[in-house]
Formats: sequence, structure tokens, C-alpha cells
Amino acid sequence: MNEVFEGREKCYQCYRPISSCMCKHVKPISTRTKFVILMHPKEFKKTKNGTGRLTHLSLPNSELYIDIDFSDHTAVNTLINDSNNLCYVLYPGKNTLNLNQQKIESEGKQVIIFIIDSTWPCSVKMLRLSKNIQNLPKVSFSHTKSSQFRIKEQPKEFCLSTIESTLTLLELLNEQGIEEIEEGEFEHFLDPFTSMVEYQIGCASRTDESVRFIKRD
Ligand SMILES: [Zn+2]
Repeated sequence: MNEVFEGREKCYQCYRPISSCMCKHVKPISTRTKFVILMHPKEFKKTKNGTGRLTHLSLPNSELYIDIDFSDHTAVNTLINDSNNLCYVLYPGKNTLNLNQQKIESEGKQVIIFIIDSTWPCSVKMLRLSKNIQNLPKVSFSHTKSSQFRIKEQPKEFCLSTIESTLTLLELLNEQGIEEIEEGEFEHFLDPFTSMVEYQIGCASRTDESVRFIKRD
């Protein structure tokens, strides 16, 4: 199902223009853990280089909601209030469960990880407003990878895009035995993301070309 978006036809799956639809690159991974992507409305509008939706498409066991304050969000509160669930929010900082060093003790519960899909300043605001998410125990990880997201200004080079963070999470959950994902499945997880980055860089260099062309004239 497509619709016209900014004068161009849009893919209703990845919310990108049909001309640069990334759906064919998506290789979904089945997980025991449920991921809930909390997307800032600004991220929703940023169709060109958002990775929250690509993450959602890559994870059949995921949900995606768009808002800033989730305090009264029915679906989110239903998940948090269900005693069969063990909910965490992925958030860096002190007093977090560092998954490189500490294990999630699920004890048969459904592990749910909320992931905030937003720029750093907006995610601080989202967590401040959303008391229900703020009160969840936090998980984090330390990593040495730097983002491949060359087209997006990251405040610090260790900030990863949502899809890269999710991949790191999946790898750590696999090490902990919470997930049993075949190693080979990870190989293509970032394909829609790398294709998107390459597409955007291609667009940028074509724009440079035309600018130079105009200047020469
Ligand atoms: Zn698409």
C-alpha cells in the first residue's frame, strides 16, 4: 500500500519514498525478547534517515509507538503492568544493568526492552516526561564500535543509531542465553541501514556535483 508523500509515492512499510524503499534489504530476526520502540514525533517526520522503523521491520516481536510523553499510553502501560513481563529501558548512565558485565535474570518472564528512538536531547525530555518509562530499570552496554551513520551528526562518536544499538543488544542477549539467534543471522541485520546510508551519501554527492556544475556555468 503506497501513498503520495511530499509529492512522491511513499512505501507504507519503511515510510520512505518508493524510489529508495529499503524493505528488500530487511532480514527479520525472530526474538524471544519483545522490543518496544518509542519514537519521537520528530524522528517520525525524519523519513530520510530514521532507523527506528527499519528496526521495527527487522524484528517481528516488536512494537512501535510515536509520542513524547508515554505516561498515559495504554499499550505501553499494559505491557509494564503485566506481572508476567520483565521490562527494561535501554538508557546509558550510572545505575544501569550493564549487559557486558551483568545478566538479566528473566526467571521465565517475558523480557521487554523499550528503546527510545530519538536524538539525545529529545530522549532526555521523553524520559523526563514519561514517568512510567523513567521508573523502569535501565539496561546499557559498553561498546567500542563507532556508528556507521556518517550522514547523521552524532553528538559523540560512540552514539549508535537505533538499529545499531539493537544489534549490539541482540548480540549481548545471545551471549547471555536469553536469545538463541544463529550467528549468521546477525550478518545481514544492518543491511537496510547500510543501504540507506549509501543511498543518502550517493544523493549528497550527486547534489555536490550539480552544485559544482552550476558554479562552473
Ligand atoms: Zn519500503
